[in-house]
Amino acid sequence: MQTISISIGLWFKIMKGLRRRGAGVRESAGFLLCNPGKSKVVKIAFYGQFDKSVSESGIIQFKGAATFFEYLAKEKLEVLADIHTHPTQNTRQSDSDMKHPMVRIKGHIAIIAPNYAKDFFIFPKNCSVYEYLGNFEWKKFEISKLPMHLKLI
Ligand SMILES: [Zn+2]
Repeated sequence: MQTISISIGLWFKIMKGLRRRGAGVRESAGFLLCNPGKSKVVKIAFYGQFDKSVSESGIIQFKGAATFFEYLAKEKLEVLADIHTHPTQNTRQSDSDMKHPMVRIKGHIAIIAPNYAKDFFIFPKNCSVYEYLGNFEWKKFEISKLPMHLKLI
């Protein structure tokens, strides 16, 4: 698969956005977007932009898919990965995470950040990164083989 690249500025903007939306008490999430066919993250779309009730239950239940896909078409962007936070250091996928891929396409990447993204310096190596293999099966990337590079821009 392709390696995802993301500028360090955008990465920390994503962490800050997740931290603010989670407010230290609930999970928050977003989609990492790219230009069609590319593997560089150019934008983050937080689920709350498309579904105001997304975090009400404390876990993520995204009902904004229709609006979100309209937005993608309008902006001419594609989903490269999704990211969500967990309450603790445990960034292993939950049963629910495994059973509900945000994008049901093989090769889709799901990232899980620790501690509601409250830590000030969360890097990709502090997260868990999974690739969707289809049929609700996932591959977890080893820390040394993460398909992501932060670029200093
Ligand atoms: Zn989860």
